[in-house]
Amino acid sequence: SFSTKSTSIRENVQVMVRCRPRSKKELQIDEEPCWLISPEEGSIELARLKAPSTISTFHYDNVVMGVDNEQVYKAGILDLVRSAMMGYNGTVFAYGQTASGKTYTMDTTGREYLLRVSYMEIYNEKIKDLLNTQNTDPEIVEDKKGVYVRNLKEVIVKTAQEVMNCIKEGEGNRHISATDYNEHSSRSHTVFQFVIESRSKGVPANTNRGVRVSQLNLIDLAGSEKVATDIERRKEGGYINKSLLTLGNVISKLTSDEPATHIPFRNSKLTRILQVALSGNARISVICTINPTFASKDESLNTLRFAQRAK
Ligand code: ADP
Ligand code: MG
Repeated sequence: SFSTKSTSIRENVQVMVRCRPRSKKELQIDEEPCWLISPEEGSIELARLKAPSTISTFHYDNVVMGVDNEQVYKAGILDLVRSAMMGYNGTVFAYGQTASGKTYTMDTTGREYLLRVSYMEIYNEKIKDLLNTQNTDPEIVEDKKGVYVRNLKEVIVKTAQEVMNCIKEGEGNRHISATDYNEHSSRSHTVFQFVIESRSKGVPANTNRGVRVSQLNLIDLAGSEKVATDIERRKEGGYINKSLLTLGNVISKLTSDEPATHIPFRNSKLTRILQVALSGNARISVICTINPTFASKDESLNTLRFAQRAK
């Protein structure tokens, strides 16, 4: 049930850290785990900490390893999806280094819910409509209806299968060869958006009375790792870092105890698109994925720090 007193957005932000299991190859290289995890305490710390260090134990709403997507969904997302069905906006982010499990986590998450869907990609601060390649101008506009992407194709879906078909079609429209796929997906964000409309029973269909509209956004972020050095990449990397940096700033402002000052939604396409969904009585779930290996330790620490700022 929903409390009538206004809750701070902070309580509406859930942060989960998910460490994926080691692959066969990784098990051969590292026989010991890099991270010690306590799901009961919601904590994670570095194993084999040699010298005294400023790195200590990190705490989050949930920390998991070796659980399936179903359990991740129940622990970190179900409440958000339920409130989206009740008319509140919800956004789920998968944040983390490339190959840490972002796409794996988002693939089945929450997608059994029907309704209207759209699918877009942000690459180099350019928006691409993944459900309509003829759409040459999917720019962000702001008017009485709010902030949204112009002409973005929306598909009405009635079954989970129809949702899956949209995802497949969108993936196909990313126009990337198999060899470039990882490269490309580590540098772009995808936004899968549900628009959920519900109407109180008994209200005539030709009025707006009793109608609630909410958004549920599933966001597979670009890889958070530092990007390579050649010039084109540096440019792309700058964009990626800019939107991830802006996202971090936005979430940390939203969850701050200080009265909300200026929130920099306009500093990136991603946060601008999500401005409405992240404002007001919105729910946010940040799932930070990390690699299990020592080789990725520093990137994982960066991810854990990002996750800490979000709360
Ligand atoms: P990212 O989207 O962050 O780049 P992926 O989701 O593509 O990473 O995951 C990288 C690889 O690890 C894939 O082969 C994926 O199937 C596997 N993987 C990721 N998370 C898990 C998990 N929780 N359990 C089992 N395999 C996983
Ligand atoms: Mg991915």
